[in-house]
Amino acid sequence: MPRPEPEPAVTAVASGRLENSRPAGRPVPRILVVEDQMQLLRALEINLLARQYEVATARTGREALATAAATPPDAMILDLGLPDVDGTEVITAFRGWSRAPIIVLSGRTSPGDKIGALDAGADDYVTKPFAMGELLARLRAALRRDEGAGHDAALVATIGDWSIDLAAHTIQNPESGTAPAASSPPRLTPTEWRILEILLRRPGQLVSSAQLLSGVWGPGFQERTNYLRFHMTRLRRKLEENPSRPRHLLTEPGMGYRYQP
Ligand code: CA
Repeated sequence: MPRPEPEPAVTAVASGRLENSRPAGRPVPRILVVEDQMQLLRALEINLLARQYEVATARTGREALATAAATPPDAMILDLGLPDVDGTEVITAFRGWSRAPIIVLSGRTSPGDKIGALDAGADDYVTKPFAMGELLARLRAALRRDEGAGHDAALVATIGDWSIDLAAHTIQNPESGTAPAASSPPRLTPTEWRILEILLRRPGQLVSSAQLLSGVWGPGFQERTNYLRFHMTRLRRKLEENPSRPRHLLTEPGMGYRYQP
């Protein structure tokens, strides 16, 4: 259930200096701002745009996840008290497939709220009222850490003869130099990529159906196990050598799925 929270405004809006002048040629980080208070959302957007970030905005949790799925952000600034779902659910769902930093911006100040958000996968927590300069400094720090982490987003996994690059979204057969032209790589839909990404990042681990469903479709879909069965069948047809006897994309009956390298 969404919980109400105090919504005090910003204590200091723009600080004159533009701190993050990036070297030319570096990609512009895309920041997704999720906040239901319109005035604050606008203030955040204006400040981020002034510092040359690309900005996407959302006012509900569902909108946030849909926007993130359509164009993955490099970082998210997230309010917890949203009108439809709790921000913590947004964190859990987003973490199902993205490592991009999440900074919570919330009026909730209790240790329990902070622990809950950080445990769900948030990287930092800023309480309202806040100073815009501090929030932006924490955003820069989070983006630097993410960059310094050597982009664990880059991951190549294998399923049988296929080599799957999760960052580039490409599938190749390393042996294809000698293979007949008939074995051209399969094409996956965005949903199939999302499912695959969640599974392949946890090799050998059981991933529950609920984790997959909320990671791919967002909160509120945890019961739709039929969606998963449908897409897993298609993924096996595309990637497994013998789809009716899968060796890599395994079902754990009643629990979930497992990627076996
Ligand atoms: Ca709110």
